[in-house]
Amino acid sequence: MPTPDQIALADQFAAAEAEADMRLADFDGEETHLLPLSGTWLYEYVTAMEQAVREKTGRVCAHLGRSPAVMYTAVWMPTTLVCLTCTPVLALSDPQRIHCYRCDKRKWPLNEGIARAGNVLMSFLICDPCGHITGVITQKGVPA
Ligand SMILES: [Zn+2]
Ligand SMILES: [Zn+2]
Repeated sequence: MPTPDQIALADQFAAAEAEADMRLADFDGEETHLLPLSGTWLYEYVTAMEQAVREKTGRVCAHLGRSPAVMYTAVWMPTTLVCLTCTPVLALSDPQRIHCYRCDKRKWPLNEGIARAGNVLMSFLICDPCGHITGVITQKGVPA
């Protein structure tokens, strides 16, 4: 039997996941390809993120408390987790980090997208060929 605390925590997680889904819908646009799943080519980044959370080695913004909330990260810094207000921290300013995160090539155009893993929203970059292989892009300019 789960304790009332465990039930409350599970409820908070479910609420955070539902909110993450809503935020994901807000990002929907021409340049954004939504990928509401993990366990694909993003797996290594999601794993790095989860490990950092588990081992408390990641960089977490001061606004994220102990209770589950929507968190933001990016494949170019998967061990950094921030709240919505702190998302500028994730800005892709370093040219070294601008490449396809599936094939590691600097191939244009690069498509921006966001994937959801539980209550975490992860931004990513993917080139056109990789986008088609993975099904992230079903048709040019049309989110999968
Ligand atoms: Zn914050
Ligand atoms: Zn690629």
